[in-house]
Amino acid sequence: MHTKIMKTSRRSFFKKTALATTALGVIPVLVKPHTASFPGVPRELINPWIELSAKAYLHNAELISKMARGKPVLAVLKNNAYGLGDVEVAKILDKSPHIHGFALVKDNRCLALRAAGVKKPILLMGDFSNSLGPQLVNGEITLSAFSKESCKKIVSLVVDPGRKVKVQLYLDTGLGRMGMPYDQPLDWITPLKENSQIAITGLFSTLTTSLDFAKEQLERFEQFKDRVIATGVSIKNTHIAPSLSLLQLQESHMTMVRPGILLHGSFPLAVKSQSKEYPLAPTFRLQARVIRMERLKKGETIGFSRFYEVKQDEWIATLPIGWADGYDSSAENGAKVMINNKLYTVVNVNASHCNLVVGQEHEVAVGDIATLIGPDAPEITPQGFSALIDGNNYLQINYKESLPKFVFDAFR
Ligand SMILES: *Cc1c(COP(=O)(O)O)cnc(C)c1O
Repeated sequence: MHTKIMKTSRRSFFKKTALATTALGVIPVLVKPHTASFPGVPRELINPWIELSAKAYLHNAELISKMARGKPVLAVLKNNAYGLGDVEVAKILDKSPHIHGFALVKDNRCLALRAAGVKKPILLMGDFSNSLGPQLVNGEITLSAFSKESCKKIVSLVVDPGRKVKVQLYLDTGLGRMGMPYDQPLDWITPLKENSQIAITGLFSTLTTSLDFAKEQLERFEQFKDRVIATGVSIKNTHIAPSLSLLQLQESHMTMVRPGILLHGSFPLAVKSQSKEYPLAPTFRLQARVIRMERLKKGETIGFSRFYEVKQDEWIATLPIGWADGYDSSAENGAKVMINNKLYTVVNVNASHCNLVVGQEHEVAVGDIATLIGPDAPEITPQGFSALIDGNNYLQINYKESLPKFVFDAFR
């Protein structure tokens, strides 16, 4: 009976917020903030959710362009913008004068951005299904030519004489993962070059994290570019720098930089020497409500592996979020969570639950909002969180697509 009531109320909440699942799996949720105690987020919501700050994203875009001495930013929103919502983040950054466009690796996600009304250029840095080809061309998605096979596929998309097919050449300068190896003969470009309906709009590659090798990669890139230009192709856009290279190697900025993680307010390394010079803003809050408060007795344990032993009779809170939602399981090594402006230590992370020690006082109530990551204290920023658990920034923002997103103009 109780479950049924819960189900009904959640369903009506989803209706109210116009949460729609399209064929592409897009779940756009846009809730304007208001001044209630928990602006924008329905009281019914128990399970974890993500709040995004448009202001923080726009601030970071501007700052990243400053890091690149004014060069525009091609924002990498792959992997659902590292779990934070590719459509939601693209809609925010579409308004930034510092953002050139967006780069993704999945065909259907490029289309999802267009379907959501995103106007700036979108580059698909991956392959595409033949069945989606015409939609990609109609949506003016720039395709990547990264192999002879991909060039053939691209040429086969030329049907409408009124519509150009936009292509960028994807070069492998040493990452060895994608792109045409730099030392191959140039004949792979010929079918693109000779087709007047195909517009080659750029050339790109990706640097490795090894600084010395990155310099060699830059040389390989420049030599390749010269070879292409010598055949009469003009190259307008060039880009090669993910976040780390952008910070480490000014020569890598080319005509635009191509960061992912910096956009969300995290630096790529555990050592972030430039974080003081460039104060990126945390762009998101990861939140959930407390669903259980119990006083456990000294000597009791928490978790399957009995990971935490209760030191003295103390209050333990349970949150309905775990590693299956994308919350890093290393959080149990000392991460903090904020409830009512106070920080509590995480002592257990399972697949769908985690536990916090509240202490001697019953100062947290079932239904209170817990902030697991957010801008509200240094310990819970993405950066602070990673420092506490000695972790990898990339793995920490990897949230499940199913987490609802709420977009605010700015964080309160
Ligand atoms: C992921 C990725 C990026 C962005 O990497 P960050 O380290 O998040 O800045 C850039 N280019 C390519 C090809 C990528 O796959």
